[in-house]
Amino acid sequence: MERRDANGGPRAMRFDTKLVHEGTRTHGATGDLVPPIHLSVTYDRFAQDPTRYYYGRGENPTRENLETCLAALEDARFAVAFSSGQAAGAAVLSLAPSGGRVVASDDVYSGTHTLFDLFRARGVRVDRTDLADPVAAAGALTDAVDLVWLETPTNPVMKIADIAAIAAAAHRHGAVVVVDGTFTGPALQQPLAEGADISLHSTTKFIAGHSDVLGGALVLDDPELRERLVGHRTAFGSVPGAFDCYLVHRGLKTLSLRVARQVSNARAVVDVLTASPAVGAVHYPGLPEHPAFTLAARQMSAPGSIVAFEYRGDVEALMRRTELFAAAVSLGGVRSLIEHPASMSHWSVPRAVRLAAGVTDGLVRLSLGIEDPADLVEDLTAALAVAAHAEGTRG
Ligand SMILES: *Cc1c(COP(=O)(O)O)cnc(C)c1O
Repeated sequence: MERRDANGGPRAMRFDTKLVHEGTRTHGATGDLVPPIHLSVTYDRFAQDPTRYYYGRGENPTRENLETCLAALEDARFAVAFSSGQAAGAAVLSLAPSGGRVVASDDVYSGTHTLFDLFRARGVRVDRTDLADPVAAAGALTDAVDLVWLETPTNPVMKIADIAAIAAAAHRHGAVVVVDGTFTGPALQQPLAEGADISLHSTTKFIAGHSDVLGGALVLDDPELRERLVGHRTAFGSVPGAFDCYLVHRGLKTLSLRVARQVSNARAVVDVLTASPAVGAVHYPGLPEHPAFTLAARQMSAPGSIVAFEYRGDVEALMRRTELFAAAVSLGGVRSLIEHPASMSHWSVPRAVRLAAGVTDGLVRLSLGIEDPADLVEDLTAALAVAAHAEGTRG
C-alpha cells in the first residue's frame, strides 16, 4: 500500500489494520471508500489493457480485492479465491500427478475424505497417517511423496500437528505442504510463517463469518504453483462470483473482533462443560490436559472457538433443549451452533475410520458465536442440568 515510513519505504500495516484496509483501493472519481462490486463478465478490449482483464472466469476486480486482502493477512504474495473450500481443495489435489502420492492427516474434514476417494480413483495414492504423532509423520514422509495434506486443528477433536516440523521433513523430500487451517483462520494461525507452502481456508467459516456465503481460498508465495492453481480454477470454472467475493471481504473486516469474542465464549463454555457431571472428556486445546496444549500455545495465538465433548446422555435430546445453540453443521459464524458429528458432519465417514479418529457416538461439537457469554452459559447449563436428572446420567 502507499503508506511510507520515515525512510520513504513502504510502511507495513499490522494484521487488524490490513483486515480493514487491504484490497479496498477504488479507482473511480467518486471517492467511495467501499469499492463497487464488479459484475461484468467481459471487458472492452480497447478501454484497458486486454491482457489484464479478458473474461470473468479468469479475471475479476472484486475477486482480486478479496485476494489482495487474504494474501496480505498471511504476508504472502498471492491468494487464489474459489467458489468453496472444496473447490480450493480439489485444485490443490490436482497438483498431485497421476501415479503420485499424497500423505494426509488421518482425521480430515469429511468433504476432504470424499475428494481423496475421487483422486484415488484417478490413480493418485493417498495415505492417511497420524501427522500429529511426530514418529508416524517421520515414517510416512519419503522421497516418493508429492503432497502433504495437513489439517490442524482437526475436526472435531482438535488434534494438533506441528506445522513447522512436518513442513521441514516434507521439504527434505521435495513435497509440497498444504495446511487446511479452516478451524482457526488467519487470525489465530499462520501456516506459511511455519513453513507450509499453501494455506487453505474454507472462507465459508471464520473468514466470511456470517454463515451466509460459501467460499474457499489458497494463500501462497510460489508463482509457479499459483499459475497451476489459477489454471485449474479457470479450466474447471470453480471461481466465486463477484457478490460472494464482496460478502466474504465484508465479513473479513471484523475477523479479529469476532474471533476474540468467540474464543472468550469458548473458554466460558468449557468451564461449564468441565464442571458438568453429564459430560466426560472435553476436547479443547486451551485445556492443560489437552495432549497438544504446549504445541497449540506455540503455534496458535489462541486455542480457537470449537469445543468437542463426550456427552453421557441422549445427544439428540440435548440438541433439542439448547435454545441459543442451533443444531446445525458448519462453524465459525456469529451464531453459536451445536452438532452431533456421528450423525451430522461425519455421517459419511466410515464408522471404523470415525471411531479411530476419536469421533465416538456420544461426541458433541460446539462452534461458539459472538453472543453474550452469560446467555450461552445459561442456555448450556440449563440443557445439561435437565440431562443429569431426566436421563439418569452418572454423577
Ligand atoms: C468446511 C470445511 C471445508 C470445506 O469448505 P466448504 O466451503 O464447505 O466447501 C474444508 N475443510 C474444513 C476443515 C472445513 O471445515
